[in-house]
Amino acid sequence: MFILKGIEQLEKAIAKAKKVRPRVEFDRFGRYRVSGSKGYYTVICRKSDNGYKTVDCTCKGAEKGLVCYHAAAALSLHVALARRERAASVEASADEMNNAPYLKPTVERLVERVGGIRIN
Ligand SMILES: [Zn+2]
Repeated sequence: MFILKGIEQLEKAIAKAKKVRPRVEFDRFGRYRVSGSKGYYTVICRKSDNGYKTVDCTCKGAEKGLVCYHAAAALSLHVALARRERAASVEASADEMNNAPYLKPTVERLVERVGGIRIN
């Protein structure tokens, strides 16, 4: 498991993922299966209670706290999904506001949380 702090941390793993081109299968939001040298590994991306973004992979490297290319590959999908979910929520809130003009856009906060895995 490692804590995701920024994109720099992932550079090497992303480079390797681009070379190896592992297969990433979507299980559910935050949970992916990534093909590796010894079959599939499960990668779990989540935000801990104290706000840290953590990434877990079942491979040996990740056990030692290394940023593996499985994690990088899964994250690229996860980030794209988080963005899409965010965009969808924004649309929904805009729609809600049109239909209920006196409703405060409280959905905004929720949106931030959904898209929390953004890497900038
Ligand atoms: Zn891994």
